[in-house]
Amino acid sequence: MRIRVNENKEIADMVKEGLEQTGGYCPCRRERTPDTKCMCKEFRDQIADPDFEGFCHCQLYYKEK
Ligand code: SF4
Repeated sequence: MRIRVNENKEIADMVKEGLEQTGGYCPCRRERTPDTKCMCKEFRDQIADPDFEGFCHCQLYYKEK
């Protein structure tokens, strides 16, 4: 299992900028709760799922199996 940052620098920079503006909360979501703090619960659950491979919701990170 490996987690990497999206090689598409344009997307990665855009999401990182969004995270800076929200103070670390997912820029793709409205709610600001511990579950939406990057890395958000959704992605943490996807990391824990042995069958999941793919991008997180914002496409900043990619999980390889
Ligand atoms: S979707 Fe990705 S960038 Fe957005 S909070 Fe979750 S892990 Fe971070």
